[in-house]
Amino acid sequence: MANEKKTSDKLKEKLFFSNPSCYEKMTEADVKKAYDYCEGYKKFLDEGKTEREFVKASIEYLTKKGFKEFDFGAKIKAGDKYYYNNHNKSLAAFVIGKETLDKGLNITAAHIDSPRVDFKQHPVYEADGMCFFKTHYYGGIKKYQWTTIPLALHGVVTKANGETVTIKIGDEENDPVFYINDLLIHLSGDQMRKTLSDGITGEQLNVLVGSKPYPDVKADGIKLNVLNILNEKYGITEADLMSAELCAVPASKARDIGFDRSLIGAYGHDDKVCAYPSLTALVECSKAPVHTCMAILADKEEIGSEGNTGMQCEVFFDIISDMAKTQKVLDAVVRKNAKCLSADVNACFDPNFPETCERRNSCFMNKGVVITKFTGSRGKSGSNDASAEFMGYVRNLLDENKVVWQTSELGKVDQGGGGTVAKFIAKKNVDTIDIGVPVISMHAPIEVVGKTDVYMTHKALAAFFKA
Ligand code: MN
Ligand code: MN
Repeated sequence: MANEKKTSDKLKEKLFFSNPSCYEKMTEADVKKAYDYCEGYKKFLDEGKTEREFVKASIEYLTKKGFKEFDFGAKIKAGDKYYYNNHNKSLAAFVIGKETLDKGLNITAAHIDSPRVDFKQHPVYEADGMCFFKTHYYGGIKKYQWTTIPLALHGVVTKANGETVTIKIGDEENDPVFYINDLLIHLSGDQMRKTLSDGITGEQLNVLVGSKPYPDVKADGIKLNVLNILNEKYGITEADLMSAELCAVPASKARDIGFDRSLIGAYGHDDKVCAYPSLTALVECSKAPVHTCMAILADKEEIGSEGNTGMQCEVFFDIISDMAKTQKVLDAVVRKNAKCLSADVNACFDPNFPETCERRNSCFMNKGVVITKFTGSRGKSGSNDASAEFMGYVRNLLDENKVVWQTSELGKVDQGGGGTVAKFIAKKNVDTIDIGVPVISMHAPIEVVGKTDVYMTHKALAAFFKA
């Protein structure tokens, strides 16, 4: 009997799939490496809360690592390291491989925009002793989560004279912060009976910016005082706010979560937690890779990858076809033989809300980087749905490189779902699959990730670039 069990155990080991956690697979030294890696990530996050700031921080980082600005028509050669700054809001960084592009091109694509509260073109108004900015939120948010938390203002204003000034206020300890009011519980009888989506409406997301009137002014004195402060500090007027991109983001910095410091709570993990590993992986393999490697950091994913800074913009493939032309190889062949890891987050299984996910096909905290073969919702609608062959390629690559990984879909079949940039790259005939970090409370002002998962994402992307 005992012998028989042994045989079945062996058979199970051979035939069953098991999914150990990173902590079971990693040595103490590996874990320390992962936690150290995350210190760099946390700093980067604090520097790059908006896509503009993330592009700026990325260029500084890449420049230190020997990357140069790319111009169309550049005479590229193996080992060259470039970045292309697309309107200060999206970026492609790449290292030229030893082989020509038609032999293979390894692309990662992450997005660097995150849900937030954008200001309208006529934002400022005074009402009943307070001054507010009107907003129109950006991306999918649970509106009630953005009330009663400290907010920072980030963005740019282009003045009438064409000059653009940068505004960033609320992140430093001595900065003032901003705030969105909610109703006191004592008077919330009606509000509490509403659904979570209606409890706070879009037009109630007004950012509180002041309450002190300009001396001796009766009407709109608080608004005048606020505009005067803005004028003294930035030289702007109310009309300049029409040509501005200003937003409110959570004022807090990235912090460790838990007694064991194993988690990171921060604004904007989606998708900077994949964008940062894309950059570090690219830098790690930047000493003459076999194939050209490109890390794309796209904007506008949260609103459909639209616009000239989103993944649907042709510029990223313009760069590729420009390089193909320089190497005298066919663009169509380059794209056919290219591979892409669409690096984006997935919904981490949360035992507080188990009913939304199907356990057997969910990703879990600290079980490693998650591969998502298909996204979409209700019948895979809108999904890239990678091929078995490409899934097989990625799976073997990660195993060979001792990357801890798991697979997942995004929630139960008919629960909801979401998309990524994957489909916009796949439609260029590039084999593409989603891969990234499991996230708790995705799109909340503060999201949570596990440190080992962040590190495994770096390892996965580095293995891909080196392949
Ligand atoms: Mn995302
Ligand atoms: Mn998102």
